[in-house]
Amino acid sequence: MAKYIFVTGGVTSSLGKGIFAASLAKLLQGRGYRVTIQKFDPYINVDPGTLNPYEHGECYVTEDGAETDLDLGHYERFLNIPTSQANNVTTGRVYQYVINKEREGAYLGKTVQVIPHITDEIKRRMMLLGQTGEFDIVITEIGGTVGDIEAQPYVETVRQIIWELGHSNVLVCHLTLIPYLKSAKELKTKPTQHSVKELQSYGLQPDILVCRTEHPLSDDLKRKLAIFCNVDIDSVIQASDMETIYDIPLEYQKENLDKTVLRKLQLPIEGESNLEKWKTFITRLKNPTSQVRIGLVGKYIELQDAYKSIFESFIHAGVANNCKVIVESIHSEDLTPENVASHLGHLDGLLVAPGFGSRGIEGKISAIKFVRENNIPFLGICLGMQMAVIEWGRNVLGFADAHSTEMDPASTNAVIAMMEEQKKIVNKGGTMRLGAYKCAIKSGTKAFDVYSKAEISERHRHRYEFNNDYLDAYEKSGMIASGKNPDSNLVEIVEIPSHPWFVGVQFHPELKSTVENPHPVFIGLVKAAIERKKDRVGAKKMQEA
Ligand code: GLN
Repeated sequence: MAKYIFVTGGVTSSLGKGIFAASLAKLLQGRGYRVTIQKFDPYINVDPGTLNPYEHGECYVTEDGAETDLDLGHYERFLNIPTSQANNVTTGRVYQYVINKEREGAYLGKTVQVIPHITDEIKRRMMLLGQTGEFDIVITEIGGTVGDIEAQPYVETVRQIIWELGHSNVLVCHLTLIPYLKSAKELKTKPTQHSVKELQSYGLQPDILVCRTEHPLSDDLKRKLAIFCNVDIDSVIQASDMETIYDIPLEYQKENLDKTVLRKLQLPIEGESNLEKWKTFITRLKNPTSQVRIGLVGKYIELQDAYKSIFESFIHAGVANNCKVIVESIHSEDLTPENVASHLGHLDGLLVAPGFGSRGIEGKISAIKFVRENNIPFLGICLGMQMAVIEWGRNVLGFADAHSTEMDPASTNAVIAMMEEQKKIVNKGGTMRLGAYKCAIKSGTKAFDVYSKAEISERHRHRYEFNNDYLDAYEKSGMIASGKNPDSNLVEIVEIPSHPWFVGVQFHPELKSTVENPHPVFIGLVKAAIERKKDRVGAKKMQEA
């Protein structure tokens, strides 16, 4: 039977429950255990696919096509194993399932209630992955903050699971904040005490208290927290701010988090922890031998979380090239044909981000024209690829109104158009072309260089596609389709052979980059950026920004 660890949060949101869950899982994986992580979110949306990134950050897509919370990205990047539909559950999904069952008549005669019907369905889903036999430990992160009305059914379900399985099979880790009051020059434990009391009022007792703090916790303070929150002293874990999120697992290991958790779950600790690959990654991350600047053009750049996986992919690909990648975020709405040179002229590479809708589109097209004409390495992802196709249509093929039917349904040159199977779809939620699809790669292309294989599989999230009616004209004029879906013939990768490195991908490579498997497309872009910089400043000056 799998053991279960629940991660709750108190005092405030944004304490890093997701990174904590991923770090703890990494440590347990380093101890030889098979671990997965799931997230339960308290909102009513059935999944975050319909949420604006301003609301909820990036929408992460799994192999099996689930649109999920961005924390699943952290789970995959840390653990290097894929998650699935089952790893992210929302209140909306739970209710939808229960209400559908009620309509089918599954509860005939009964009043359907939060307790037991909703909590039973939460319980079923919380225990699902643990029953597959694939995992020794399942970590479940509960979204939101303890005390929120909407999180109550989750907390109640955890209580019931502990009651059923016992304390040696289920642990609760509670994350809180220990604020530092400048005027008093003191760290304060009271908010944590209150938050634990709140948790206790639902019948839950934290086994591990994870304390986010900007200053080290003294032994006295840890003792005080232990006494008043009713936890063991070695279960008060200090969680300091770190230079990068990748330092965090090792920091928790210094606090013996893995040993404490395994002891409490009555699981054996055999031999030494094996995190060698992780440690090598960090050493390389901290000792780059060169540095490049890559622009990220998008319309959500005010919000780091909107492009989370892209930022992390650059870190992984930088390490693979022993290079520090400075990502310069550029708002697509700020770019015009007149000012684009001053915004992009100094860059070693450019990425145009995925997205939806018209806002900032012309800025993206100006950026692409500039990097295409100035031989700056370019990667377009999804909408970014579509904009590269439109830019070529307008400025090389001379179709003045070349566009995507997403933004201009009346265009007479719809070089990007809605996929056939999308045309009959009415509902917006969960209906895009989602998840992993195969792509066949033409040999002798940059795409082939990058992947070194003829067939790949990548994750998707889109409704529009390259219009194959135009493929001939594109290929004859110098933009080729170097990757296509072998079954549907959809264009998956475009590139310009005469450009040093100009690649557009209809899929999302950023969703598959992990610490142990940096993504080849990002590695390729960074490598091309390094080459460009060398040509520009000479090999000697490579360290400079
Ligand atoms: N809006 C575009 C489409 O639906 C691109 C989507 C994306 O960038 N993820 O095809």
